[in-house]
Amino acid sequence: MDLKNLIRTIPDFPKPGIQFKDIESITEHPEAFSHVVERFSEAMEAHDIDKIVALDARGFLFGGALGLRQKLPIVMARKKGKLGGDCVAETYALEYGSAEVELQKTAIKSGEKVMIIDDLLATGGTAAAAAALVNQVGGDVTLFAFVIELDGLNGRAQLGDVDTVALVSF
Ligand code: AMP
Repeated sequence: MDLKNLIRTIPDFPKPGIQFKDIESITEHPEAFSHVVERFSEAMEAHDIDKIVALDARGFLFGGALGLRQKLPIVMARKKGKLGGDCVAETYALEYGSAEVELQKTAIKSGEKVMIIDDLLATGGTAAAAAALVNQVGGDVTLFAFVIELDGLNGRAQLGDVDTVALVSF
Protein backbone atom coordinates (compact mmCIF):
# COMPACT_ATOMS: atom_id res chain seq x y z
CA MET A 1 0.00 0.00 0.00
CA ASP A 2 1.55 3.29 -1.12
CA LEU A 3 0.44 5.48 1.80
CA LYS A 4 2.85 8.23 0.94
CA ASN A 5 1.30 8.88 -2.46
CA LEU A 6 -2.17 8.78 -1.01
CA ILE A 7 -1.61 11.52 1.54
CA ARG A 8 -2.78 14.93 0.35
CA THR A 9 -0.78 18.04 1.12
CA ILE A 10 -2.65 21.31 1.52
CA PRO A 11 -0.19 24.14 0.94
CA ASP A 12 -0.14 27.20 3.19
CA PHE A 13 -2.61 25.83 5.76
CA PRO A 14 -3.33 26.82 8.48
CA LYS A 15 -0.83 29.58 7.74
CA PRO A 16 1.56 30.54 4.96
CA GLY A 17 4.54 28.21 4.65
CA ILE A 18 2.93 25.21 6.38
CA GLN A 19 2.48 22.09 4.25
CA PHE A 20 -0.54 20.56 5.94
CA LYS A 21 -0.70 16.75 5.72
CA ASP A 22 -4.37 15.86 5.41
CA ILE A 23 -4.89 12.43 7.00
CA GLU A 24 -8.50 12.39 5.84
CA SER A 25 -6.94 11.17 2.62
CA ILE A 26 -6.33 7.94 4.59
CA THR A 27 -9.50 7.68 6.65
CA GLU A 28 -11.70 8.23 3.60
CA HIS A 29 -10.22 5.04 2.11
CA PRO A 30 -11.17 2.10 4.35
CA GLU A 31 -8.47 -0.13 2.84
CA ALA A 32 -5.76 2.40 3.60
CA PHE A 33 -7.16 3.07 7.09
CA SER A 34 -7.25 -0.65 7.78
CA HIS A 35 -3.68 -1.03 6.51
CA VAL A 36 -2.53 1.69 8.92
CA VAL A 37 -4.27 0.00 11.84
CA GLU A 38 -2.66 -3.35 10.95
CA ARG A 39 0.79 -1.74 10.76
CA PHE A 40 0.28 -0.20 14.21
CA SER A 41 -0.93 -3.56 15.50
CA GLU A 42 2.30 -5.17 14.31
CA ALA A 43 4.40 -2.41 15.87
CA MET A 44 2.82 -2.89 19.28
CA GLU A 45 3.20 -6.69 19.32
CA ALA A 46 6.52 -6.56 21.15
CA HIS A 47 5.25 -4.12 23.77
CA ASP A 48 2.51 -5.67 25.90
CA ILE A 49 0.59 -2.37 25.97
CA ASP A 50 -2.12 -1.90 28.65
CA LYS A 51 -3.69 1.31 27.36
CA ILE A 52 -3.73 3.65 24.38
CA VAL A 53 -3.56 7.42 24.85
CA ALA A 54 -4.95 9.11 21.73
CA LEU A 55 -4.08 12.74 21.04
CA ASP A 56 -6.58 15.49 20.25
CA ALA A 57 -8.01 15.39 17.65
CA ARG A 58 -6.87 13.35 14.65
CA GLY A 59 -5.11 10.89 16.96
CA PHE A 60 -8.59 9.90 18.19
CA LEU A 61 -9.37 8.31 14.82
CA PHE A 62 -6.29 6.08 14.77
CA GLY A 63 -6.22 5.40 18.51
CA GLY A 64 -9.91 4.55 18.48
CA ALA A 65 -9.64 2.09 15.62
CA LEU A 66 -6.46 0.51 16.99
CA GLY A 67 -7.85 0.17 20.51
CA LEU A 68 -10.95 -1.58 19.23
CA ARG A 69 -8.85 -3.86 17.00
CA GLN A 70 -6.61 -4.77 19.96
CA LYS A 71 -9.40 -4.80 22.55
CA LEU A 72 -7.50 -2.27 24.64
CA PRO A 73 -8.81 0.69 26.63
CA ILE A 74 -8.50 4.06 24.91
CA VAL A 75 -8.15 7.34 26.77
CA MET A 76 -7.87 10.87 25.41
CA ALA A 77 -5.29 13.58 25.99
CA ARG A 78 -7.22 16.73 25.13
CA LYS A 79 -6.70 20.41 24.69
CA LYS A 80 -7.39 22.37 27.86
CA GLY A 81 -10.98 22.68 28.98
CA LYS A 82 -12.45 19.74 27.05
CA LEU A 83 -12.25 16.96 29.64
CA GLY A 84 -14.32 16.89 32.80
CA GLY A 85 -13.25 15.70 36.23
CA ASP A 86 -9.87 16.06 37.91
CA CYS A 87 -7.14 16.46 35.31
CA VAL A 88 -3.38 16.80 35.14
CA ALA A 89 -2.09 19.43 32.71
CA GLU A 90 1.05 20.17 30.73
CA THR A 91 1.96 23.32 28.85
CA TYR A 92 4.13 23.12 25.75
CA ALA A 93 5.58 25.55 23.27
CA LEU A 94 4.09 26.19 19.85
CA GLU A 95 5.74 28.05 17.02
CA TYR A 96 4.02 31.16 18.35
CA GLY A 97 2.93 31.02 21.99
CA SER A 98 1.97 27.91 23.93
CA ALA A 99 -0.75 25.30 24.36
CA GLU A 100 -1.98 23.13 27.19
CA VAL A 101 -3.09 19.49 27.16
CA GLU A 102 -4.92 17.56 29.85
CA LEU A 103 -5.54 13.97 30.93
CA GLN A 104 -7.98 12.76 33.56
CA LYS A 105 -6.14 11.73 36.71
CA THR A 106 -7.94 8.40 36.83
CA ALA A 107 -7.36 7.59 33.15
CA ILE A 108 -4.21 5.57 33.81
CA LYS A 109 -3.22 3.41 36.76
CA SER A 110 0.27 3.50 38.20
CA GLY A 111 2.63 1.18 36.31
CA GLU A 112 0.42 0.71 33.25
CA LYS A 113 2.25 0.44 29.93
CA VAL A 114 1.01 3.13 27.60
CA MET A 115 1.15 3.72 23.86
CA ILE A 116 0.73 7.31 22.68
CA ILE A 117 -0.75 7.76 19.21
CA ASP A 118 -1.25 10.75 16.92
CA ASP A 119 -1.56 11.40 13.21
CA LEU A 120 1.70 13.28 12.81
CA LEU A 121 5.03 14.00 14.51
CA ALA A 122 6.38 17.46 13.73
CA THR A 123 8.48 19.17 16.44
CA GLY A 124 7.47 16.55 19.01
CA GLY A 125 6.10 19.10 21.49
CA THR A 126 2.58 17.66 21.53
CA ALA A 127 3.67 14.05 21.99
CA ALA A 128 6.26 14.99 24.62
CA ALA A 129 3.60 16.89 26.59
CA ALA A 130 1.30 13.86 26.38
CA ALA A 131 4.12 11.65 27.70
CA ALA A 132 4.65 14.08 30.58
CA LEU A 133 0.93 13.76 31.43
CA VAL A 134 1.19 9.97 31.47
CA ASN A 135 4.26 10.19 33.70
CA GLN A 136 2.46 12.56 36.08
CA VAL A 137 -0.18 9.91 36.79
CA GLY A 138 2.39 7.10 37.15
CA GLY A 139 2.05 5.45 33.72
CA ASP A 140 4.96 4.15 31.68
CA VAL A 141 5.14 5.30 28.04
CA THR A 142 6.63 2.40 26.09
CA LEU A 143 5.67 3.28 22.50
CA PHE A 144 4.89 6.32 20.35
CA ALA A 145 3.07 5.76 17.07
CA PHE A 146 2.43 8.22 14.23
CA VAL A 147 1.13 7.82 10.73
CA ILE A 148 3.42 10.59 9.47
CA GLU A 149 6.76 11.99 10.61
CA LEU A 150 8.07 15.27 9.24
CA ASP A 151 11.82 14.94 8.72
CA GLY A 152 14.08 17.81 9.58
CA LEU A 153 12.17 18.99 12.65
CA ASN A 154 13.96 16.55 14.94
CA GLY A 155 10.72 15.58 16.70
CA ARG A 156 12.15 12.25 17.84
CA ALA A 157 14.70 14.07 19.97
CA GLN A 158 11.80 15.25 22.18
CA LEU A 159 10.69 11.68 22.78
CA GLY A 160 13.81 10.37 24.52
CA ASP A 161 14.71 6.75 24.00
CA VAL A 162 11.13 5.48 23.90
CA ASP A 163 10.45 3.22 20.91
CA THR A 164 8.85 5.33 18.15
CA VAL A 165 7.13 4.15 14.99
CA ALA A 166 6.12 6.34 12.05
CA LEU A 167 4.66 4.74 8.93
CA VAL A 168 5.53 7.48 6.42
CA SER A 169 8.03 10.31 6.46
CA PHE A 170 8.14 13.52 4.44
P1 AMP B 1 4.24 18.92 17.02
O1 AMP B 1 3.78 19.14 18.43
O2 AMP B 1 5.03 20.05 16.46
O3 AMP B 1 4.94 17.58 16.86
O4 AMP B 1 2.93 18.88 16.11
C1 AMP B 1 2.14 17.73 16.03
C2 AMP B 1 0.68 18.05 16.07
O5 AMP B 1 0.35 19.15 15.24
C3 AMP B 1 -0.13 16.88 15.60
O6 AMP B 1 -1.27 16.74 16.44
C4 AMP B 1 -0.53 17.23 14.18
O7 AMP B 1 -1.87 16.88 13.93
C5 AMP B 1 -0.32 18.73 14.07
N1 AMP B 1 0.52 19.11 12.92
C6 AMP B 1 1.72 19.75 12.98
N2 AMP B 1 2.22 19.97 11.76
C7 AMP B 1 1.33 19.47 10.89
C8 AMP B 1 1.29 19.36 9.45
N3 AMP B 1 2.27 19.84 8.67
N4 AMP B 1 0.23 18.74 8.89
C9 AMP B 1 -0.77 18.24 9.66
N5 AMP B 1 -0.79 18.31 11.01
C10 AMP B 1 0.25 18.91 11.62
